[in-house]
Amino acid sequence: MFKYQALSLLYMTTADNFEGLNAEQVLEAKALAKRIIPLREAQFTSTGHKLDQHPDMIRDLSNKRPHIVSAHIMPTDICNLACSFCSVADRNSPYQKTSVVHSDEYKRAPFLDMETEIIPAVQTLKKWGLQAIIFSGGGEPTFYKDKKGHNFADLVRYMKGENLEVALINNGTRLGEMPKDVYEALEWIRVSWYPFEYPGVYNKDLNIPKPGPNSTLGYSLVVTDKPHKDFHMPLEEDPLFGYYVDAVKMINEHGKKAGAEYIRLVPDCHVAGEQHLMLHRVAQALQDEIGELVLYQQKFHRPPKQCFNGYVRPVIYANGLVFPCDSLILNDSSDRRFHPKYAMTDIKNLDSYLEGSVGNLKSLISNTNSMCPKCVFYENNTLMGQYISGERGVPNPAPEPMIHKNFV
Ligand code: SF4
Repeated sequence: MFKYQALSLLYMTTADNFEGLNAEQVLEAKALAKRIIPLREAQFTSTGHKLDQHPDMIRDLSNKRPHIVSAHIMPTDICNLACSFCSVADRNSPYQKTSVVHSDEYKRAPFLDMETEIIPAVQTLKKWGLQAIIFSGGGEPTFYKDKKGHNFADLVRYMKGENLEVALINNGTRLGEMPKDVYEALEWIRVSWYPFEYPGVYNKDLNIPKPGPNSTLGYSLVVTDKPHKDFHMPLEEDPLFGYYVDAVKMINEHGKKAGAEYIRLVPDCHVAGEQHLMLHRVAQALQDEIGELVLYQQKFHRPPKQCFNGYVRPVIYANGLVFPCDSLILNDSSDRRFHPKYAMTDIKNLDSYLEGSVGNLKSLISNTNSMCPKCVFYENNTLMGQYISGERGVPNPAPEPMIHKNFV
């Protein structure tokens, strides 16, 4: 079991002010500035603390060169479930929403092609430093199958053959069928649980194999104020705690038997301001009540001054576009999907895009306040900006090594 060792804030707050933020955002920015991160949260989630563990990346950014440490690949848009809280809208009917401007990219099939898209992109990213891949969605990554029949196992075996670390964020419904060599090759596996809308799936009998000797298994549950699609009004704090507590206890018992190391409770990041802080209080109260595997994640919104995330940890989505992060779908103007207006480039032009950015690592989002008011990577972007400007260099002495350090 990991110790709850507190980690200090990463970015300087002395000159911090909340200029340009509205009242809701100031509330969250203040909470963000006060948070103390337990070591366990820094290890198992992306808080920015792992960035300092990559001196080559810091040097490259200071020389105005991209340096990719890890990348998300979201290989398909297809899912077997349709949870109402899901961060991505309209799975299984990709690109049909009328409010999306249909581009050529959005008329394609809802998966990436392994030979002509994924492999060339991975080779490009390796050239720029890539060490780790996270498969996630979008859709459910284990449903991946391209036109030539390549499936998820083929993807994992290919990445391992390239000496990459591989992780998987998934809904847990297909892990029991996964070939053992593939399952055990995963550095970490995170299963998103949602027992309220799918009680027949997410219960004590859900088949999650024990992790391999070198894998970390974790569970995740979104704490949302409308925890079932039939709720039209948000629940208040006490009823919400009451609604979740037995489910989290059940997941905790399941996790102990399955060999999970944590159950991440993440407040629903579609909700902002005081309502979001309320969800944080509920998640904290659930952690206090149940303890054991429960890990409340302190994720707050704040738009960064500039966005550099895609120069270090880009996201390749099933629509063939490359994005600066996996959370831009939280922003209202994203239409709850990986909208082309947030794209850095398309998968075919990734190498020339990165080459073209050398010497000029400009912000990947032109106006972060208007486009990304719900950014959850304020610290990551602030740190990257400090590396680029030279304000922050390679730490000396080097920080204590952290597990999963390549999953920045
Ligand atoms: S500024 Fe926007 S694109 Fe960049 S990390 Fe934040 S949400 Fe993602």
